Amino acid sequence: MIRKNSLFCKLIRIKSSSKSLFDSFMAGFRPEMESCPVCGASHSCTTHASYERNLIDFIQGRPVYHTIKVIRVICSCGHTHAILPDLIIPYNTYGVFFILRVIAEYLLHQHSIEYLCVRFSITHSMLYRWYGLFLEHKSL
Ligand SMILES: [Zn+2]
Repeated sequence: MIRKNSLFCKLIRIKSSSKSLFDSFMAGFRPEMESCPVCGASHSCTTHASYERNLIDFIQGRPVYHTIKVIRVICSCGHTHAILPDLIIPYNTYGVFFILRVIAEYLLHQHSIEYLCVRFSITHSMLYRWYGLFLEHKSL
């Protein structure tokens, strides 16, 4: 897996969705420019395959479900890697913007936990798990 850093703006300024930023990033992606995280070779990757996965955004006040196409590249050493911009969380259906939005609204303390869970169609345990991860990694 190759993680790409493409998220450099603050949540409050983001007017886009995880899906549209993913599409924009992938439109400019060039596999031949990648370095292999296993063998370290530069310019050794080519497009190998792709797979679909789900991605949930929060757009105009409600969860929106998307399907995205994740590209896999293969290095000359034989290892394959999924290309995931940093706004896509590995093994998680929710996009970064969705989760940050939940945490932001939780921290505002304007609504009850029950209200937030209904608004975002999530469970209490998801909200508290994401908030715990936020506290754990907020210095990043
Ligand atoms: Zn390699």
